Amino acid sequence: MDHHRISPEVYRRTVLAYHGLPVVIAFALVGAFFAVFLFTSSFAWSSLAAAAPSGFLAWRWVLAGRQIDRWGCPKCGGSFPRKTYSGSPPKACTRCRARLGE
Ligand SMILES: [Zn+2]
Repeated sequence: MDHHRISPEVYRRTVLAYHGLPVVIAFALVGAFFAVFLFTSSFAWSSLAAAAPSGFLAWRWVLAGRQIDRWGCPKCGGSFPRKTYSGSPPKACTRCRARLGE
């Protein structure tokens, strides 16, 4: 995979996943917990069932964040400064002023 020339479509989808996954994780957590709780009435089993998919999604979320970090700007290939990055891509590239993640 070429990290220097990432297609805008792939970049956009990864940023979308990065922004959307926390919401999906919240729904998976609550949804899995109550679904299992309805069947088992067990707090322990429900917690376990909720933790498994949420943990997996959280891992995907971390990977997406790292991927965006590694790609940097899809236009000029410049990496984002750590301080402005802070876990989420900036709205615009600090180098070439390209708008990102839309
Ligand atoms: Zn740039």
